[in-house]
Amino acid sequence: MKTTAEVIIIGGGVNGCAAAYYLAKRGIKDVIVLEASDSIGHGGSSRNGGGVRQSGRDIRELPYAMYAIQHQWPTLSEELGVDVEYCQKGNLRLGKTEEHLKKLNKLATNAQSVGLDVRMIDGKEVKEINPYLSDEIIGASWCPTDGHANPLMTTLAYYKRAVELGVSFVKGAPVKEIKKIKGKARQVVVEDGTVFEGETIILVAGYESREIARTVGIDIPMTKYFEEALVTEMQPHMFDQMLGTADADFYGHQSTHGSFVFGSECGLEEAIDKPIEDLSTSSLTMSAGCRAIMGYIPALKDAKVVRSWGGWLDLCIDGVPVISPVDEVPGLILACGFTGHGFGTAPAVGLMLSQMVEGEDTVVDISALRYDRFKSDR
Ligand SMILES: Cc1cc2nc3c(=O)[nH]c(=O)nc-3n(C[C@H](O)[C@H](O)[C@H](O)COP(=O)(O)OP(=O)(O)OC[C@H]3O[C@@H](n4cnc5c(N)ncnc54)[C@H](O)[C@@H]3O)c2cc1C
Repeated sequence: MKTTAEVIIIGGGVNGCAAAYYLAKRGIKDVIVLEASDSIGHGGSSRNGGGVRQSGRDIRELPYAMYAIQHQWPTLSEELGVDVEYCQKGNLRLGKTEEHLKKLNKLATNAQSVGLDVRMIDGKEVKEINPYLSDEIIGASWCPTDGHANPLMTTLAYYKRAVELGVSFVKGAPVKEIKKIKGKARQVVVEDGTVFEGETIILVAGYESREIARTVGIDIPMTKYFEEALVTEMQPHMFDQMLGTADADFYGHQSTHGSFVFGSECGLEEAIDKPIEDLSTSSLTMSAGCRAIMGYIPALKDAKVVRSWGGWLDLCIDGVPVISPVDEVPGLILACGFTGHGFGTAPAVGLMLSQMVEGEDTVVDISALRYDRFKSDR
């Protein structure tokens, strides 16, 4: 087994696979991706709701979320040779009360300030866009360039193309430590003692990145957070938009196969305290999610849920990820803390990670996402 490479990537999720692909695409094919589990995309990357959205994001994330949608998602299936089921038919974030509209308006105004095409619409226009929604909805934010895609297909498409271009993937390789040699991140030690060596190490292992970064003295303020999703049986085609709500009690879309995929929350997630290996779902969240879904999309009241699943999020304390090289540990690049919305931005993140490896400026400025931005407010 090959154990040295120009670049070692820790984590085979959508961001790690995308980084591997964009590196190989620019000619850096001497890359090893170490994935702890036996399958690629075992983390949030294969479990998420597929939202590819700009609206509702923090303005620090918007430049690269917008870059991905303007320059990458529309041609991704063609580029990777796999249908990633990208559908760009807009995002409605729905509200039923004046409080909801206030919240949505604030988000929309922030996003407009950096050039995003998003606006508030009234209940009548909501129904014109999507006649299946409840009459109780009094308004929404509408972002026509948002959409959705299939997360499993996207992750595996990046993986497949990266392998075709020469990247090596090692599965069942849980990293426990990064080691410095002469002050520079150089070695990556796996649980069975195997040592991998690289000129550059990209740490993109979801929540587990925190423990691994600590081995070289870097601590990122992240917590882990459990989120659940469900899929319904196939329905006749109803609508193509991605939906969300001001309360964030559910979000989702109808897939190209007819099933609806929804993510939901019951409000007690912050108190979930179980080991990261535990992926079992709770009856509480699914029933809360179904109540919310029926409240907004009454047409789905008889749809049957065929499966539900859960996944862990890497929740960063200020709601946006850390994506940056680390000054104190030359050779180390961090990409973690995606806070539940790291799927839609993965093409841009993968590209920017490949640019960081080469020491280039990234396609958009993301200096606001540096690892050392956290300051005590006491
Ligand atoms: C239910 C749910 C719904 C979501 N919905 C959306 C959505 O609609 N839109 C959106 O944009 N985002 C969504 N997200 C978030 C999104 O899935 C993540 O932000 C994104 O997948 C992060 O990708 P990643 O590659 O950084 O991390 P991950 O997908 O978590 O991948 C990290 C990988 O690292 C591996 N790993 C962990 N520890 C080690 C180790 N020690 N050594 C080696 N490898 C290791 C893991 O096994 C994993 O494969 C959702 C997440 C969940 C759970």
